[in-house]
Amino acid sequence: MRLFNSLKREKEVFQPVEKDQVKMYVCGPTVYDYFHVGNARAFLIFDVIRRYFEYKGYNVTYVQNFTDIEDKMINRANELSVTVEELADKFIEAYIEDARAIGIKDADYQPRATYHIEEIIDLINKLIEKGYAYESSGDVFFDISNYKEYGKLCKQDLEELESGARLSEEEKEKKKNSLDFVLWKANKPGEPHWDSPWGKGRPGWHIECSAMSMKYLGAPFDIHAGGSDLTFPHHENEIAQSEGATGKTFCNYWMHVGYLKFDDKKMSKSLGNFMTVREFRKNYDPRILRLFLLSAHYRSPLNYTEELLEQSKSSVERLNNFYNNLLHANKTAKEADINEEDEKIIKLIDEKEKEFENVMDDDFNTADALASVFTIVREVNSYITGKTPNKVVLDKVLNRLQKMDQVLGLLPEVSANEEILDEEIWEMIEKRQTARKEKDFATADAIRDELKEKGILIEDTPQGVRWKRDSG
Ligand SMILES: [Zn+2]
Repeated sequence: MRLFNSLKREKEVFQPVEKDQVKMYVCGPTVYDYFHVGNARAFLIFDVIRRYFEYKGYNVTYVQNFTDIEDKMINRANELSVTVEELADKFIEAYIEDARAIGIKDADYQPRATYHIEEIIDLINKLIEKGYAYESSGDVFFDISNYKEYGKLCKQDLEELESGARLSEEEKEKKKNSLDFVLWKANKPGEPHWDSPWGKGRPGWHIECSAMSMKYLGAPFDIHAGGSDLTFPHHENEIAQSEGATGKTFCNYWMHVGYLKFDDKKMSKSLGNFMTVREFRKNYDPRILRLFLLSAHYRSPLNYTEELLEQSKSSVERLNNFYNNLLHANKTAKEADINEEDEKIIKLIDEKEKEFENVMDDDFNTADALASVFTIVREVNSYITGKTPNKVVLDKVLNRLQKMDQVLGLLPEVSANEEILDEEIWEMIEKRQTARKEKDFATADAIRDELKEKGILIEDTPQGVRWKRDSG
C-alpha cells in the first residue's frame, strides 16, 4: 500500500509501527456550530481510509478530538448566553448525529480538550524544562528559535513567514520571536479557566492535539490527518511541541485533504458560503454527500455545485435500484451449471474487485474505486434483466459488492420491504379479496395497512388489484 506523505511530499509504502496495527489521529471539529460539508470532506475521507485499512485486515485505532475550548467557542457561548461547556455538549451531540447520518463510524476515542488539562500541563512543563518554551506574564509560548526543525512540514521560508507576521503591541512585548505560538493563555475575565503552574488560564489550540494523540496512541504513531488548511501552523506546531517534548518522532505519515470549493470559492464559515451537513440532510439522502465527496481524489480540490450534486443524486438512485433488483433476483434465482453468460460475470467481478484494491492501494483513489463499482452495476444489471440469472453467480456478486461497500458505505439499508417476496404479496392480496367479498372490511383494511408498512402499495383498479414497491 502506498500513500502520499505530506512530510516527504511523495508517495511512500505504508509500514506501520506495529505489525497489522494502524494508529491514526484526525483533527476533529471545533464544536461551536454545526459542521459544514467542507469540514465533512476530511472527516469522511479518513473514515473511508480507516475502513480500507480494516478491509485489508489491519486493526485500526482511530482517534478524533473535539476542540471544546477556543476563542470561537467563547465568543459563540457569549452570543448565545450559555456556558462554553453547554455549547460544547450541544454541538458534540449534533456532530455525532450528523456524522453517523453520512455513514462516518464513531472514532475509538473522541477526546475533549477540556478533559485533558492535566496531560496538556504536563506536556508544557516538559517543553519549559527542555528550553523549548517560556512563560511570559501568565502566557506560555513555544520558542521556535530553539527548535531547529521548525518548518519541516510546511516547507515555507521561515524568514518570510516571520517578517509577514502581524503582531499586536501586546504580542510584541510578550513574544521572543514573531512566530512563537501560544501553549497556555493567561486568564481573561469571564473566560473558563484552570489552575496551572503559570496561574489561572486555558490551553492554546495546538497543544491539545499533541497531548491527546500521544495519550491514546503513544509516539511515534502511524498517521496524522486533517484538512490541508491545518498544515500550517497547526500541524507544524504539533510536530514542534511533540518532538520537542519527547525527543521522539511524533508521527510517520501526514495526510491532508484538499479544499472543498463552493461554486469555485473556498467553502468557509467566515466567507458565508457554506452548507451545513445538518441542512444537507434536510434536503437530500445523506449518501448523496458521501458519494459526491468520494467522487474525486482526496488530495484534489473538489467543487460543490448543484450540477455535480444532481449527478451524485442520480448515481445513488441507480445504486439503490440496482441493489434492490439484485436482492430480489437473488431470492428467486435457482442454482444451475455455469454457462458462458455466467462465466463472463464471474470474471468481471474478480477483475473489478482486483481493480478496486489496486486503486485504493495507490493512495486511496476513491474516484476510480467508484468507477469499478459502477461497472459492476451496469454489467450485472443487464445480466439480471430479462434473463434467468444463476444463484451461484448472484451470491458471488452480492458477497463481493457488500465487501467493497464496507469501505465505501453507499449501499442502501435493506428494510422490510425488500424482505417480502412477490408470492407473499399475492397471497396477502388474495386474503384481502376474500375478506372484502365476505364484507369483513376490518380484516381487509388491516391487510392493506400491513402491506403498506412493508412498503407495498396496492391499488384497486377495474382490471383488478395492482401493487408496487414504494421506493420511498
Ligand atoms: Zn489538531
